[in-house]
Amino acid sequence: DFSNAIVAQDEMGRPFIIVKDQGNKKRQHGLEAKKSHILAARAVASIIKTSLGPRGLDKILISPDGEITITNDGATILSQMELDNEIAKLLVQLSKSQDDEIGDGTTGVVVLAGALLDQALELIEKGIHPIKIANGFNDAAKIAVTHLEKHSDDISLDESSFKDHLFKAAKTSLGSKIVSKEHDKFAQMAVDAVTTVMDAKRKDVEFDLIKLEGRVGGSLNDSQLIHGVVVDKDFSHPQMPKAVTPKDGSDGVKLAILTCPFEPPKPKTKHKLDISSVEEYQKLQTYEQDKFKEMIDYVKESGADVVICQWGFDDEANHLLLQNELPAVRWVGGQELELIAIATNGRIVPRFQDLSSDKLGTCGIIRELEFGTTRDRMLVIEECSNSKTVTCFIRGSNKMIVDEAKRALHDSLCVVRNLIRDSRVVYGGGAAEVAMSVAVANEADKQRGIDQYAYRAFSQALDSIPMILAEISGLDPIETLSSLKSKQIKEGVSTMGVDCLGKGTTNMKDLFVVDPLIGKKQQILLATELCRMILKIDNVIISGKDEY
Ligand code: ADP
Repeated sequence: DFSNAIVAQDEMGRPFIIVKDQGNKKRQHGLEAKKSHILAARAVASIIKTSLGPRGLDKILISPDGEITITNDGATILSQMELDNEIAKLLVQLSKSQDDEIGDGTTGVVVLAGALLDQALELIEKGIHPIKIANGFNDAAKIAVTHLEKHSDDISLDESSFKDHLFKAAKTSLGSKIVSKEHDKFAQMAVDAVTTVMDAKRKDVEFDLIKLEGRVGGSLNDSQLIHGVVVDKDFSHPQMPKAVTPKDGSDGVKLAILTCPFEPPKPKTKHKLDISSVEEYQKLQTYEQDKFKEMIDYVKESGADVVICQWGFDDEANHLLLQNELPAVRWVGGQELELIAIATNGRIVPRFQDLSSDKLGTCGIIRELEFGTTRDRMLVIEECSNSKTVTCFIRGSNKMIVDEAKRALHDSLCVVRNLIRDSRVVYGGGAAEVAMSVAVANEADKQRGIDQYAYRAFSQALDSIPMILAEISGLDPIETLSSLKSKQIKEGVSTMGVDCLGKGTTNMKDLFVVDPLIGKKQQILLATELCRMILKIDNVIISGKDEY
């Protein structure tokens, strides 16, 4: 682009080019800037809006290199959108911070931020100063959060039903996802995974101990939680048993974890091997067989039940292992080998001579997983002696489903983890939002100054959550909202929400549609903060690229 280049001549008549620097620098300021920011942010929020809730729609995202993602997860949608508006990018970060901190509620936070900005725009047009709006929103958010905390329910009070409650909360978070057909199974998986690895005393969950593995094939229903390690291999001989359990009197299945090959030492290449007679050949064969026998004896003597081998072995060795009732796995990768060693408390052994009983790993069972008709097999090593590691093993008919199922499961793992950390819940389907909205509106009536406008605007922004949920579920938004409000106010029940799935009741407590308190709180705080930040920006200077 030479539009801002001028050709000039020096005193000798030689031409040269002058390029005006920063020709592209753009600048917006004042109210116009604010309005345009808000419009940009609103555009993003309105794309995300239709993904909210159990009737939310999925989006297909196609990356520049043609890879397809189908998802309804707010953070994922936003992260894959190529935005070049700086303010719109702030919304991406907003959902990302909700994702990092809480893991769930990434759609809701963006929708709420969008609604707040909408309200702010109206106030700006009425002539209220943006800083006043920002401060009013801040105070309103505090009122909302205080109300939320006061009206939350602690589900850990009744210990006998705690797990059941966790299960239902996990199920709520899966309701809007592709896996909703199998949500019982996935919710159970999330609860089991988290409660297995959690540290009950510290009320914390180490997420690293939960592995998410996916494999294309089968259906979502074939997904399962494995208490142990999954290895993408099978036993080396089809006639070896499909499952190995401890021998009588033993405390577990003993594993020899080997990095030495199961083959006789090769004659060094320097020496020529000449076989010119039948006798010589037979001698060599006996030598090989003796060597094999020696190796097998080492393994047997150590007391191993199963051999895990980093290298391959030939048919001869394979046959001998089978004959000696030593199920074996070959070509196990270095990383997997390490994982097995750690989980089973075993040592990786580099030479057969070094094998001894104290170096063997221990586990409860090793079995082959077979997948439907696909003849695909994997090995699972369960009830390992040393580790709380679990693997959520997800199956699905194609890569897009497996990926989306992984994301959905991740969300519900987060919900369960959050409830372990803080077991207070609030009610979903917009119930919590309506309750907060009423509380903030009440406070607005007590205000004399400008703040009352900001409070009312904040309360209306909260109202838009149940309205959007109603709209997506095919209900009349205004009618639904007003009926909810009147129920909440008249009957004093703050658990009334939108019956998105047509279950016949609006009491979310009966439907057990709950969200963790800390997630909802974070949504309000993050969305308000972002809105405040945008309201305080009045200059955007976009520097143009250098041109010549
Ligand atoms: P997010 O990514 O923000 O978690 P979701 O698409 O999961 O978004 O939607 C969450 C919203 O849907 C919450 O407001 C939640 O209360 C509501 N919701 C979830 N399940 C139900 C249900 N069965 N009935 C009514 N509302 C529900």
